[in-house]
Amino acid sequence: MSAVPSDTEHSYLDNASSSSSASSYGSDCSHDDSDYQGMATSSESKRSLLRLLGMQSRSECGYCGTEDGSRFLALRAIRLTCDDYQTLIDRGWRRAGSLLYLTDHSDACCAYYTIRCHALEHVPSASDRKHLRRIRRHLSAAVDNVSDLLVSGIEAGGLEVRLEAASFTEEKFAVFEKYQVAVHNDEDVSRQGFRRFLCDSPLLFQPLARPVEGLVLPASGLGSYHQCYYVDGRLAAVGVLDILPSCVSSVYLFYDPDFSHLSLGTFSALREIALVQQLHEHLPNLRYYYMGYYIPSCPKMTYKGRWRPADLLDLRTLKWIPIDRCLERIARHPVFCTFDPDVDKLSIVRDSRGQVLDIAPAISPELLTPEERCRALERIEVLVDVGGLFGMPRRIASVSGSQLTLISDELEELALQTYVSVGDQLATNVTLSL
Ligand SMILES: [Zn+2]
Repeated sequence: MSAVPSDTEHSYLDNASSSSSASSYGSDCSHDDSDYQGMATSSESKRSLLRLLGMQSRSECGYCGTEDGSRFLALRAIRLTCDDYQTLIDRGWRRAGSLLYLTDHSDACCAYYTIRCHALEHVPSASDRKHLRRIRRHLSAAVDNVSDLLVSGIEAGGLEVRLEAASFTEEKFAVFEKYQVAVHNDEDVSRQGFRRFLCDSPLLFQPLARPVEGLVLPASGLGSYHQCYYVDGRLAAVGVLDILPSCVSSVYLFYDPDFSHLSLGTFSALREIALVQQLHEHLPNLRYYYMGYYIPSCPKMTYKGRWRPADLLDLRTLKWIPIDRCLERIARHPVFCTFDPDVDKLSIVRDSRGQVLDIAPAISPELLTPEERCRALERIEVLVDVGGLFGMPRRIASVSGSQLTLISDELEELALQTYVSVGDQLATNVTLSL
């Protein structure tokens, strides 16, 4: 598997091109893991199951153009609880379909900072309001108050926005195909790729105790959704979203190029911020809007800093830092850096003259103590394929201490890399399988 996902969500705003087409996201997953799903008992099925894919080879970077771009550590999520995914994205991970990936920042061409907006404190800027007025002018019917354009369940001026199940329909696919061809020059669009990348989700639906009326269809809960934008009854755009315990996370947006005059990229970001505000009334912990990666080396991707107040995730400390405090430091460090004011006390990389180089966290098993290495390996399970010969389903077997010698050095390295990058707590909570 060599295809590495680029963060293309909302790239429509700026026509940033991506080296990875949507259809290639799914093409790397030759294994059909769906048969494992049926194995889960009711208690097991509430637990996340992640399959270790390992460090991916470098490919051309869609942001800076480097031929041997960054490396990513990848996992295949066979099933993933919303809580566990929240923990993962708060450690810098993202998902494309069921593929989870994290940049190895110790050796990367571009820095990827996870960015979030404090949606509850967000006030539409003058340019946001100007944008809403422009949309209003283009709608077929009159809208008295532009703020109506941001309210769920209201059809304003022929515009209707509905949160729907993240399922495949021919109507959505037709819009996706038009978008990929016109905006990303992607001639290799398939139904299967669309399904895998934007419809299939490993997230386990988590119903809410009380349904949120008129908001979430077909049932209220945390999980993956399509937010569909209809203009005069015609599907104009689809925002792929994950609703998680403390955020709405934007996965992707595609739109019908016939509606590009509405700048649906900006509008969808405003709608998604409004969605957080609405969900917060029912889910007090849900306060943030996650926009994926902020990539300073790619000017076309820095628009995500427009929605304030915003934070960037410091991968060294796993703390969120207000973006204004980060920007000066980013300007001085072309690759990844930490925003921790105490960074000089941390171990840092220096060149031969003692100058501080970039400060990047590595996904390295060397960070583990011998005791942690032992614990990490005990928590890895092995998928045993007994299906081919005996017509039986695949099984998952635990690796006991005595069997550890059966694991090759490469698999051990992979298991330890994953353990380091998901952290001790998550490694305990989820099933990591080889
Ligand atoms: Zn790059």
